[in-house]
Amino acid sequence: MALLSIVVPCYNEEATVELFYARASAVCGALPELEVEYLFVDDGSADGTLSLLRGLGARERGVRWLSLSRNFGKEAAMYAGLEHARGDYVAVMDVDLQDPPELLPQLLEAVRTGGYDCAAVRRVNRKGEPPIRSWFARQFYKLINKVSRTEIVDGARDFRLMTRQMVDAILRVGEYNRFSKGIFSWVGFRVKWVETENAERSGGESKWSFFKLLVYALDGIIAFSTAPLAIASVLGLILCVVSFLAIVFVIVRQLVWGGSAFGWPSLVCIILFLAGIQLFCIGILGQYLAKTYLEVKKRPIYILREQGGSLDEKP
Ligand code: UDP
Ligand code: MG
Repeated sequence: MALLSIVVPCYNEEATVELFYARASAVCGALPELEVEYLFVDDGSADGTLSLLRGLGARERGVRWLSLSRNFGKEAAMYAGLEHARGDYVAVMDVDLQDPPELLPQLLEAVRTGGYDCAAVRRVNRKGEPPIRSWFARQFYKLINKVSRTEIVDGARDFRLMTRQMVDAILRVGEYNRFSKGIFSWVGFRVKWVETENAERSGGESKWSFFKLLVYALDGIIAFSTAPLAIASVLGLILCVVSFLAIVFVIVRQLVWGGSAFGWPSLVCIILFLAGIQLFCIGILGQYLAKTYLEVKKRPIYILREQGGSLDEKP
């Protein structure tokens, strides 16, 4: 019988773990000819998440859990889960029920009988989200799709169900700076998009502040584009434009009114122009260097502290 692994990253989610399991197991219990294993990844939670997972693992068949040595971030937790998943099919879901488990049968059908390698969920609206955040999110998708050749679908959630083949491909992308929305798309394969309404959290609160999201967005752009928006580069470009205007001004002034102070204005223009070009180029170089620096250290993506649940028997 085929096995479906459901990877669920959890960070300080004591309010939602049990709710998630109750709803997901109600759906999965009814899936035909399929066994299901849950793989909860405790991403260094500081609350009671881990003890809840322990309890769940001891109580329920087919529940496994991993616990990371500290908070490594959702990307790393997801990677840990994918690496430990044993299923022929693997789904990734948030624990806060913003990814409705009721969609699983539909996703599974697309992959099992629809000829797709992956079925992924995108939300068609952002109801219940602060408008300013939605606006920034939309701008981000516009920008990244302009500067990157990897398509990043607006509103795509990390909620998806994949074949073993696709999971193995994703695991082979072992980069340290992980931007999963990009990696999922980069590995290719045939993806079916399933649309859903935005759902609000079932409990607890979002781990993403606006600032964290902004950094994440910039990381994504840097990871999936070689045209990064380096501050130094922009600065250099602005200097170039300013010096160009100054050159025009000096020339016009010379033509119309005849020369006043000779020599120094043109010199300043030239110095500014060259300094601008230099900063522009160093900025671009710096982006590549920063990326290379982080990757070349080859630090592990996550560190496992403990694991448990139904480890030995395949459920
Ligand atoms: N999460 C995680 N590590 C983190 C932050 C979040 O494993 O450092 C998990 C979190 O427990 C949840 C999922 O990632 O299952 C999505 O997080 P959240 O709901 O806070 O994000 P949002 O839905 O607001 O974007
Ligand atoms: Mg959420």
